[in-house]
Amino acid sequence: MTNRTVPIVNRDLLNDAAARAVRYLEELPGRRVGPAAEALSRLSAWDTALPEGPTDPAEVLRLLDELGSPATMAMAGGRFFGFVIGGALPVTVAANWLAAAWDQNTGLHTITPATAELERIALGWLINLLGLPLGTGAGYVTGATVANFTALAAARHAVLKQAGWDVEEHGLFGAPPVTVVVGAEAHPAVVKSLGLLGLGRSRVVTVPVDRQGRMRPDAFPRLAPPAIVCLQAGNVNTGAFDPAADIVPRAKGAGAWVHVDGAFGLWAAASPRLAHLAAGFEAADSWATDAHKWLNVPYDCGLAFSRDAEALRATMAVRASYLPTGARDPSDFTPELSRRARGVEVWAALRALGRAGLAEMLERNCRHARRFAEGLAAAGYEVLNEVVLNQVVVSFGAPEVTGRVINGIQEDGTCWCGSTVWQDRTAMRISVCSWATTDDDVEMSLEAMLRIAASRTRR
Ligand SMILES: *Cc1c(COP(=O)(O)O)cnc(C)c1O
Repeated sequence: MTNRTVPIVNRDLLNDAAARAVRYLEELPGRRVGPAAEALSRLSAWDTALPEGPTDPAEVLRLLDELGSPATMAMAGGRFFGFVIGGALPVTVAANWLAAAWDQNTGLHTITPATAELERIALGWLINLLGLPLGTGAGYVTGATVANFTALAAARHAVLKQAGWDVEEHGLFGAPPVTVVVGAEAHPAVVKSLGLLGLGRSRVVTVPVDRQGRMRPDAFPRLAPPAIVCLQAGNVNTGAFDPAADIVPRAKGAGAWVHVDGAFGLWAAASPRLAHLAAGFEAADSWATDAHKWLNVPYDCGLAFSRDAEALRATMAVRASYLPTGARDPSDFTPELSRRARGVEVWAALRALGRAGLAEMLERNCRHARRFAEGLAAAGYEVLNEVVLNQVVVSFGAPEVTGRVINGIQEDGTCWCGSTVWQDRTAMRISVCSWATTDDDVEMSLEAMLRIAASRTRR
């Protein structure tokens, strides 16, 4: 029957990969967070001519590990605070390895029933955890950018259908104009999504914001359908939430579709202590969030939700004679047809953490953010935001001084934070959203920040 010359399992290779990955993770706490310049310079060894013949896979893996591992940013560790992105829970890394071995193309239920089921079940859990309405339709996408795009495509479909226009069939040429409202602090991913959808990046009504970046309800415009209002749960600098309890009823009363970019902030709904921040957003029509941020699953994993599941399906589903249809076809709800089974890690994270474990992780990250803010303020540095969630924005003085401190912190390597400009002030941004961050990580990082700030703010 078989005349296999190459076994399907290369046991030594996979064990070697696991051993190398474990060693990498074990060494993370003891290494600098940003890669050393010398590690980066060694990457040129990868840049050879395309080999004519094959290379032993063990050698390929060795090249990846020996050159790549030291040149990574230690995002998987506990002291990377540079972007609001989080790490990857151990159970999700393990689930990811298993799912990679399964290699399931999770577009169609009949072809990949196991992963389609995991995805369906995890979506049900998420809808419950995030307080979204029963019956909400959802899809797993690459990240919040595509989640915003996907949910806004459903919005575009629904508001134009209401106006008697089938946008999927006829496009936007000759369509009734759609009013799109965003806050002045909308994330660039929302703006980009509007561009991709033909709704225009700057053809929007922009609502002014307050000092925390929240939409000002007094400046909210009068609306008439067709209209889409984009709210934000969690500003990428301050962590602030738009005033949903005020704006959502008004916008919906005026016939608008309300969309929420909750890339990280929507997770607040999953913690009893933080849920007040997300109150009112559940009354919206669609939501975008990231699992690769605060749920701490590996890249890439975003989630798009639409209260009107049929609007999402009408926008995304494809039919072809060679494609079987099954129970819940995951691809009915996503721009992708073929894709990896992102829901496996989401299911594993939720199954391992439970409701209480997730809430504890979210609350611990927020407690750590408050500790950073207190420590920095006590040393005389100006915290520019109200620390309501996991975000701290701090100025060390004049823009050049703050820039010097940030460079110093990045060079020092104890932790890693990036820079931002918050309402015309140059500042350092601290985002705490990794499961791996411990009290010790926070104290060690704060100590490094204060030490470096003290030396670099001196003239
Ligand atoms: C991170 C983020 C995005 C973009 O998410 P990606 O996963 O990087 O595509 C959009 N909006 C907000 C508020 C974010 O924090």
